[in-house]
Amino acid sequence: MSDTKYIFVTGGVASSLGKGIISASMAKLLQARGYKVTIQKFDPYINIDPGTLNPYEHGECYVTVDGHEADLDLGHYERFINEQTTRANNITTGRIYQSVIDKERRGDFLGKTVQVVPHITDEIKRNVKLLGTKHKYDFVITEIGGTVGDIESLPYIESVRQLRWELGKNCLCIHLTYVPYLAATKELKTKPTQHSVKQLQELGIQPDILVLRTEHELSAEVRRKVALFCNVEPNAVIQSIDVPSIYEVPVKMQEQGLDIVALNKMGIPVTEEVSLGPWKNFLSRMQSATEIVKIGLVGKYVELPDAYKSINESLLQAATYNDHKLKLVFIHSEKLNDANAKELLSEMDGLLIAPGFGQRGLEGKFSALKYARENDVPTLGVCLGMQCMVIEYARNVLGLENANSTEMDIKTPYNVIDLMEEQKGIINLGGTMRLGAYECELEKDSTPAKAYGTTHIQERHRHRFEFNNKFKPDFEKSGMQCVGHNPDTGLVEVVEIPTLKWYVGVQYHPEYNSTVLKPNPLFVAFVKAAIDNKK
Ligand code: GLN
Repeated sequence: MSDTKYIFVTGGVASSLGKGIISASMAKLLQARGYKVTIQKFDPYINIDPGTLNPYEHGECYVTVDGHEADLDLGHYERFINEQTTRANNITTGRIYQSVIDKERRGDFLGKTVQVVPHITDEIKRNVKLLGTKHKYDFVITEIGGTVGDIESLPYIESVRQLRWELGKNCLCIHLTYVPYLAATKELKTKPTQHSVKQLQELGIQPDILVLRTEHELSAEVRRKVALFCNVEPNAVIQSIDVPSIYEVPVKMQEQGLDIVALNKMGIPVTEEVSLGPWKNFLSRMQSATEIVKIGLVGKYVELPDAYKSINESLLQAATYNDHKLKLVFIHSEKLNDANAKELLSEMDGLLIAPGFGQRGLEGKFSALKYARENDVPTLGVCLGMQCMVIEYARNVLGLENANSTEMDIKTPYNVIDLMEEQKGIINLGGTMRLGAYECELEKDSTPAKAYGTTHIQERHRHRFEFNNKFKPDFEKSGMQCVGHNPDTGLVEVVEIPTLKWYVGVQYHPEYNSTVLKPNPLFVAFVKAAIDNKK
């Protein structure tokens, strides 16, 4: 396709309606037609990136291959379209302002007064077009975070308004709203949608397509009404009804012709119907699985489903490819101790020890690991989870009393996990960890090498602390092996106890690299081990 087309996705009425999933589904449908598609997200907050945000604020922090700490929606994008994103795919207001202010200090504005319009909006527009021009995508889908009417999102909406004029037919606006159901009168109410579209119109944007999130089927009548009041065609009113799995959404969108309506509006000839073959195979495997595999996720954010989003999705994908239904049991690490470990964990087929920061809930992770190690329960430790494996082993097997990570105890006598040399002296917290994809060489006969089917892998990192190589001989002599290393630095990336059925800890985050069509092999192997354990 000659010109890149730009699709904007805005949201109204309420937050958390699933703009990210709609954007990803749209991308999936265009990709199925052979187009090169990417998705970006604009977050209207002042933080430079979500890296310093508490998971209670914004859920999981996702990490891209180029080491950007990103909004969790980028995880959805990658899982849906199986394409890697970069820092260009997630921009915050903080980054926009930082870049404009840097230019101002350099004198780039030649003495002009720097203003929201045009300088901030120009910077937003530049970031939208960057993906199209630099990377030559056919479609760039831009999700605008927040809800229309928020003060923070105004400059973004204004930029979309301007881009619509500049791009003409090469631009499309999709607006996602919510249609509440009043149980008392058994009615679906469209007024909030009408108001939300009016608000958008007041800001100068006429949406081309409306996607209505709903818990009940929308009648043709309701769609006609919305179309009439909102200046869109009835076939451009699409419903997004609640479905058991987010992975069903692209299929639901395709059934209503979302992609065809969009292509027609942009004047692109629509060729034959496309199939979502492999995607649908995944769905049918997921839906037809009846046998259950029970994985216990030990972490401190159990009350917060979004905190471990990528891990949950990776486990679901792995269970599906093992033709099992995943039963994920969240186990609060703060409530775990040596005395109740058996009671809380004995039902689990496998355990995943979650990543994290800080002391809270740490002792519970040690109790879970002691139980898993002594009872030979298949276990995967991720990042802090791997570090906990090392500490627990040091304390309880090597007899190194009070062994710890210097993150938790700066004065520990046995700093089996310690700060990397490069990290010493770093003061700023934002964007300064070991971030992004790094190479790892695996020992030939190790469990992970068998899982990946290769000894050379690349996985993404997000941590400051590392296995302390000084203690390596002690660990290896006694049975915990270091089976994965960074080829350039010699840093330990993977440990395992080979005498156990499946006990592997990884310093990296395999969950950032697991998609619907390409599940992460380590997760697939871990879930398989959990299933075998059940038998
Ligand atoms: N807190 C640990 C570190 O910084 C682990 C981080 C993580 O689990 N992502 O090294």
